[in-house]
Amino acid sequence: MKLTGMERPVDTLGRVVIPREIRKRLQIEDGVDSFDIFFEDDAVILRKHQEKCFLCGSNQDLTEIDDHMICAGCIERIKDL
Ligand SMILES: [Zn+2]
Repeated sequence: MKLTGMERPVDTLGRVVIPREIRKRLQIEDGVDSFDIFFEDDAVILRKHQEKCFLCGSNQDLTEIDDHMICAGCIERIKDL
């Protein structure tokens, strides 16, 4: 984990603005993208949410099945079983 040296206040509703420089670097599109939120000890970690196959982690050729994303490759592998 890398300390950015940036500090942002938490507003009265618990919101924190992620600095533009970081949003730009992560190619976060305001009003479109979202984050997955993790915490460990006293740290909160945000990671740009990306749909990916729940079996292999691929983000190519995804299909949603019962609230899970699965890629075409894994579907083919399952068919071959
Ligand atoms: Zn897959």
